[in-house]
Amino acid sequence: MLETFTKIADLQQIIHKAKAMGKTVGFVPTMGALHAGHLSLAKQSLGENDFTVCSIFVNPTQFNDKQDYILYPRHIGVDQKMLQEVGVDYLFLPDEKEIYPDESYKTIDFDPGIVAEQLEGAHRPGHFAGVGAVVKRLFEVVNPDKAYFGQKDYQQYLIIKELAKHFFPNQYIELCPTLREPNGLAMSSRNQRLTAEEREKASIIYKMLQQSREKILAKTQSFTDIEQEAKAEIEKNRNFQVDYFDICSAKDLTKVQNHEQNEPLIICAAVKVGNVRLIDNLLI
Ligand code: AMP
Repeated sequence: MLETFTKIADLQQIIHKAKAMGKTVGFVPTMGALHAGHLSLAKQSLGENDFTVCSIFVNPTQFNDKQDYILYPRHIGVDQKMLQEVGVDYLFLPDEKEIYPDESYKTIDFDPGIVAEQLEGAHRPGHFAGVGAVVKRLFEVVNPDKAYFGQKDYQQYLIIKELAKHFFPNQYIELCPTLREPNGLAMSSRNQRLTAEEREKASIIYKMLQQSREKILAKTQSFTDIEQEAKAEIEKNRNFQVDYFDICSAKDLTKVQNHEQNEPLIICAAVKVGNVRLIDNLLI
């Protein structure tokens, strides 16, 4: 039976009890509007821990675009049903005051390094500062043994891994695979804001990621050409605008120029479809 807590003190009482009995706690932080991708993280946590806590908090400080925050889908009742069905034990559903009792909680003294300056960091000023502050707060509240993050937000995963190493060395950060729609589009709460036609056409993003991977492995084209061809193909669709389609180091997400650099690679893409911004990536 899913139990929902809105207050930190109430949730902590339960967690302290579980920990005192030697139980392990897995944690899945989310912003709600749940889909099968979120649930796959929850299922992994359920399989690996005695208790699983999910949180739903649409964190205002990580939205650089106010409209995106306002339009972010919210339907708590449906989310609770989905969590209940997969067997999640506890839902933490705080309001803004609970997470940020005062302004000091909105910033943290932590520099994740060069990784935070790339891709989303460059296109969404302040985004990762907001993510860092809320995740640190949530980790302090829940104190999980393991926390689960999706590969769709690979840059976020790298930054949180650094944050955990710095502030919570005993917490393990697990990376979980990206779940996709049947047409290949990465599942995302923001997909709900696409029309049926846009949703179908947005499958081009994953197609281009896959095609680019093949081209990289074939070693016949420069990285710049591969990136440009993918960008052009995506932008053939009306209302599609590519923020970036970059071949990067999978270690720190800096751009990789050619095959000679001998780095583990990841292709990362961000595409605006009308006013909905989608991200995806593919590890090579
Ligand atoms: P969000 O609610 O978008 O903040 O996402 C909460 C967590 O779910 C993050 O760790 C995301 O990376 C993860 N997530 C989002 N979409 C997917 C997906 N399609 N597959 C797997 N994990 C996902």
